Amino acid sequence: MSDKETLIAWDKRYLWHPFTQMNDWHEETPVIIARGEGCYLIDVDSNRYLDGTASMWTNVHGHNHPALNAALKTQVDNIAHTTLLGYSNIPAIQLAKKLMELTPSGLNKVFYSDNGSTAVEVALKMAYQYWQHKGQPQRKRFVHLDKAYHGDTIGAMSVGGIESFHQNFDALLFNSIRVPAPESARLQSPPPGRRCFQPPPTRTRCLNEIERVLTEHATEIAGIIVEPLIQGAGGMLVAPEGLLKGIETLAQQHETLLIVDEVMTGFGRTGKMWACEHEDVSPNLLCTAKGLAAGYLPLAATLTTDEIYNAFLGEYRERKTFFHGHTFTGNPLACAVALENIAIFEREHLLSRLQTTISHFQKRLQEFYQLAHVGEVRARGLAAGVELIKNPDTNEPYPLEEKVGIRVCRAALARGAMLRPLVNTIVLMPPLQISLSELDALLDIVYRAIREVTE
Ligand SMILES: *Cc1c(COP(=O)(O)O)cnc(C)c1O
Repeated sequence: MSDKETLIAWDKRYLWHPFTQMNDWHEETPVIIARGEGCYLIDVDSNRYLDGTASMWTNVHGHNHPALNAALKTQVDNIAHTTLLGYSNIPAIQLAKKLMELTPSGLNKVFYSDNGSTAVEVALKMAYQYWQHKGQPQRKRFVHLDKAYHGDTIGAMSVGGIESFHQNFDALLFNSIRVPAPESARLQSPPPGRRCFQPPPTRTRCLNEIERVLTEHATEIAGIIVEPLIQGAGGMLVAPEGLLKGIETLAQQHETLLIVDEVMTGFGRTGKMWACEHEDVSPNLLCTAKGLAAGYLPLAATLTTDEIYNAFLGEYRERKTFFHGHTFTGNPLACAVALENIAIFEREHLLSRLQTTISHFQKRLQEFYQLAHVGEVRARGLAAGVELIKNPDTNEPYPLEEKVGIRVCRAALARGAMLRPLVNTIVLMPPLQISLSELDALLDIVYRAIREVTE
């Protein structure tokens, strides 16, 4: 049976949805997606929705893309899965080489896993074990920013800074050092007459605090982990210029490792292939996932340097092996799609075309300041957060129970766009290949949905 009523009944009976209060879910009629077409998602009733958040920040070239489909079909006719534990496969090898050509200099080795959280776990464990091989086993702690998000597994949560996600699990988490995040950079100052939502962005306080921590705990720090340029799940918080470079400099001065989590920012989201490139940063470890296989399949990679890789070399009996691996590591289907993803970037000169899309996006986002309850618009590349505020004059936020973000997204859905908020921040993160007219349609829908709910 697959008629809509049956599907809804089975969904409510059998499915437990992520990050969802299932009580609320049972009150609602879920949208069930049946197909995709470019930047549109199409439900079982043939309603079409613009994919405003690129299906959880993953989609790059649109859905149901002929070339990506073809790559997948070709690969599946050869083999769907075989293991990288002790053996190898063709697409995994080819993709590793391709990633090396694409990533910042110094990164020479690829370790595959399945999702952003595992890419982060791998980076943390590599850093941790690296110091044991270097004769500094006391380097056991990680530094991370407040409001950071690096995934939902225990290790990734331990370097996370979003209280509401992590507080229930506090006792399970290992002990890291949290430093304050910088005040986020606004797209531009609000129009005259409107009070500033936040003080002007500054990176100094954050960098000073990192420096203090690195000095105070000089011999204990295994590494610093950071989302480059934008803290995503924390609320689309845009870092002030130079913060990332500043962190790199501090990590180098204090001879610890820099782990850059490009899970959201990688693959063009910020306008360059990697966010690191904007500030000419070469991390010791780089995590990539969401856009790696163009939003088609779960695939992740942790990239690292020869220096770290070489520290794990030794006689078998020395136990220097990196004892970590996931069953589906280097899955051939996902790697084949990732190769085609990169081929499309190159063939279609996507990164240079993207600049037009980004400037149009950012220009139009300014209009949102005309709305009375838009407190702040934050954007970098083709990612934005529009934060709604109850009273912009007093900085009084909407209380959680008003569910204003959720209500705006519901209003947008009725107008033909699928979104998901971060509390009171409306996230805009369309597929990179979105056309200017589709982008206009998306922004119009969101604008009207905000006005409808807040005015
Ligand atoms: C989404 C995300 C993760 C976690 O990725 P999953 O695939 O959901 O495990 C980690 N880091 C960042 C920056 C992310 O945006």
